Amino acid sequence: MRVIVVGAGIIGLSTAWYLRRLGAEVTIIDPAPARGASHAAAGMLAPAAEVVWGQTPLYPLMQASAEMYPGFAAEVASAAGADLGFTDAGTLVCAGDRADLQALRELREAQSQSGFATELITGSAARRIEPSLAPSVAGAVHIPGDRSIDPRRVSAALRSALTADEVSLVRQRVTQLLKDVDATVGVRLADGRRVEADQVIICAGDAVTEIVGAPALPIRKVWGDVLRLRAPAEVTPLLTRTIRGLVNGRPVYLVPRPDGEIVLGASSREDGLSGTPAGAIHRLLNDGQRLVPGILDAEITDITTRARPGSPDDLPMIGRIDSGCVVSTGYFRHGILLCPLGGRIGAELALGASSDWPPDGALESVSPFRFTTEDTTTNLAARSIS
Ligand SMILES: Cc1cc2nc3c(=O)[nH]c(=O)nc-3n(C[C@H](O)[C@H](O)[C@H](O)COP(=O)(O)OP(=O)(O)OC[C@H]3O[C@@H](n4cnc5c(N)ncnc54)[C@H](O)[C@@H]3O)c2cc1C
Repeated sequence: MRVIVVGAGIIGLSTAWYLRRLGAEVTIIDPAPARGASHAAAGMLAPAAEVVWGQTPLYPLMQASAEMYPGFAAEVASAAGADLGFTDAGTLVCAGDRADLQALRELREAQSQSGFATELITGSAARRIEPSLAPSVAGAVHIPGDRSIDPRRVSAALRSALTADEVSLVRQRVTQLLKDVDATVGVRLADGRRVEADQVIICAGDAVTEIVGAPALPIRKVWGDVLRLRAPAEVTPLLTRTIRGLVNGRPVYLVPRPDGEIVLGASSREDGLSGTPAGAIHRLLNDGQRLVPGILDAEITDITTRARPGSPDDLPMIGRIDSGCVVSTGYFRHGILLCPLGGRIGAELALGASSDWPPDGALESVSPFRFTTEDTTTNLAARSIS
C-alpha cells in the first residue's frame, strides 16, 4: 500500500517507522522536517511526573507508550547507528520554598491515587541525591527510573533510518487534499504537483486544520520557550537527573543530557506571539536558578520558541476522517513520550491492520470527533466510507 505521511515531526517520523514495519511504501512530505514543536521539546518521558497536570484519561496512554519506549528507542538507535541520549536516571520534583511544598504534597497524593509509586523526601535528602540543588529547596518528590531522551537526536535517527529503508522525503508544503468524491486520494503540493496514494496520514501538528479544511479540528497553539545550556567543564555534570519544580507556583524544569547539555524550560503561553519574549526567558532563568543556582555560570547555547499542538482536553486526536485519510495530531506537551503509541496507532489505522492492540478505550479517548457537534458528526459520518 502507498502511504503519504504529511509532516516530519516526531509523530510523522514515528508513524512512518511503524508503516514501514507493516510493509507500506512510504513518502513523507514536509518543507522543514523536524523543525516544529519536536525541535523545542525537552524530551522528558515521565508519566508519573506529568500527573501534576491532572489529566486522568491521559495516564493509560502515557503508561502504555512509556512501556513501548525502551524497545522503540533501541530499535531506532540500532537502525541508525545513533545514540539517542536515552537515560533512566530519574526525576526530583522540587518545591522552591515552603509555600510550594503544599502543592508538592497534593501532587504526591494525585500520583499515588493514579497508581504511581513516588516518595516525598526532605530538602536535605534531595540535596544528598543532587548536590547542586539550592539550600532553599524545601522538599521533593523522588521518582527513580523516570526517563528522558534527546528529541533532536531521535528525529535525526528516524530520518536516517527511514531514508536508508527506501522512504522518500519530499521537501514541500502540502496545500490541499485531493478528493475523489469524498475520499482522499492524495495531496496537492505548494509547487502545484499532485501526489497520489492509497492512504494519507496527516501528522502536521498545529497545521492540520489548514490541510484538512472544514470541519476544523479544534487545535490550539500553546507557545513554549526553552533554553539549552552548557555548564563549565569543571562542574560538569551539574545535574545527574531531571529536576522539575514549582517556584512561586510556576512550573520549571531542568533536563540534563548524557553529553552535558541542560534543557531549561518551559513557558506556556496562548498569547499568539511566535517570537521569544524577553520576559519568558527572564522568568525561566530566575525560576531555574532558584532550584539550581549553578545554571547562572552556564553558557546559553540555544533559545527556541515553538507552539505545542494542543486539543481542548489535552489528549491527542488520532482517527480516520475519510476512507483515504487519517489524522494524528494534538499531542500537546506529551508528543515525545507518546510517539511510539501514536505512531503505531496511526500506522495501523491507515493500513486497516487489525490486532488486539491498542489498550482498551484508547481509540475512543483519542477520537478526533469527540468535540464535534451532532451536526458535524453526522456530516463527517456521511463523508466517511469505512
Ligand atoms: C518547549 C516545549 C517542550 C516540550 N517538552 C516535551 C517533553 O519534554 N516531552 C514530551 O513528550 N513532549 C514535549 N513537548 C511536546 C512535543 O514537542 C510535541 O507534542 C510534539 O513535538 C508534537 O509532534 P508533531 O510531530 O505532532 O508536531 P511537530 O513537531 O510540530 O511537527 C509537525 C510537522 O509538520 C510539518 N508541516 C506543517 N504544515 C505542513 C504542511 N502544510 N505540509 C507538510 N508539512 C507540514 C511541520 O514543518 C513540522 O515538521 C514539548 C513542546 C514544547 C514546545
